[in-house]
Amino acid sequence: MAYTCFTCGNQYSLNEKLFRCSCGGFLQVEPNGCFSKKQLAQRDFSIWRYREAFGLPAQVKSVSIGEGRTPLVRSKVEDAHLLFKLDFLQPSGSFKDRGASVLISLAKSLGIPHVVEDSSGNAGAAISAYAAAAGIRCTVYVPAYTPEGKLVQMKLYGSDVVKVPGRRQDANQAVIEAAKEAYYASHLWNPFFAMGLQSAAFEIWEQLGGKLPPRVVVPIGGGGFFEGLYLGFAFLKQVGYVRKLPQLIGVQAEKCPPIHRAFQEGLPDYREMEVEPTVAEGIAVQKPPRGKAVLQALRNSGGYTIGVQEEEILSAEKMLFSLGLFVEPTSASALAGWRKLSREDKDGTLIMLTGNGLKETKKLSDLFLSS
Ligand SMILES: [Zn+2]
Repeated sequence: MAYTCFTCGNQYSLNEKLFRCSCGGFLQVEPNGCFSKKQLAQRDFSIWRYREAFGLPAQVKSVSIGEGRTPLVRSKVEDAHLLFKLDFLQPSGSFKDRGASVLISLAKSLGIPHVVEDSSGNAGAAISAYAAAAGIRCTVYVPAYTPEGKLVQMKLYGSDVVKVPGRRQDANQAVIEAAKEAYYASHLWNPFFAMGLQSAAFEIWEQLGGKLPPRVVVPIGGGGFFEGLYLGFAFLKQVGYVRKLPQLIGVQAEKCPPIHRAFQEGLPDYREMEVEPTVAEGIAVQKPPRGKAVLQALRNSGGYTIGVQEEEILSAEKMLFSLGLFVEPTSASALAGWRKLSREDKDGTLIMLTGNGLKETKKLSDLFLSS
């Protein structure tokens, strides 16, 4: 087991406390086995039932507070049948707990006393929650515009929160400086985060009785969830549990579409571009470090990307409220993307709902309740 650089192929021991290759490339890891169906029948309902697929060394003990096993519900929107995976129903309120549980478990086994992270909110909350559970000190660098509800959550978990003026990318620069002194538990860089996110794909497979939906729609910011779902589905195919991968459809806000543009233009990595603030602040990632892996996953799954306008996100958000689903605007971008699919592509499609709306009540009040 080792880290392998996507760019130059250099390998590193999993004991090394690094977040990227010396060449600047991002790292990848491989699963170290496969869970049997018989084993699954005997295991607890957390993401750790899929542990073999995470690629962690055997001595790593799980830091687990009940992540995973989120509901899958059938629904009907605008005369089409679809599935919602309620991945916002997790200990810290977003899908990111799947990745944070795996990454912080590794950090704890390495004896790391202090982790740093940068986040617009959900990843910072998830890393803070798991660092607290593991007894590891945590510092989160956030963009100044991060919603207060998410900052309160990080602080109450015991993290130090550093507000960085400017854009999301400035918080990223600040944490890379801080990473010279502490371990960078990065949801954007560290491959174990995406390895943990695979668990959502495995759950979908189990919840649908060993089948997969024809298409899955996911919001893309850094693209970690997209990459994790792809790796999970590809793993199921590789071990012979399914025959075909779902088509993966990634949604970006038109205000910040570096992956969407790259896909449209056939580029191997994200498109360098100026971006604007979006109501879907959870996917406002101007320079996604694992962009090449995300674009590769898009193409390998036969998927595609969709850009959505601000008013389309808000309209989808209202629609989710009317269905009783209280998610943040970033999550609503997935439904906004789904509404732009062809009639044939809508039916049977699964939409990942990624973050809880209860973290953003102030913002939602300003958006929908003030006249
Ligand atoms: Zn390299």
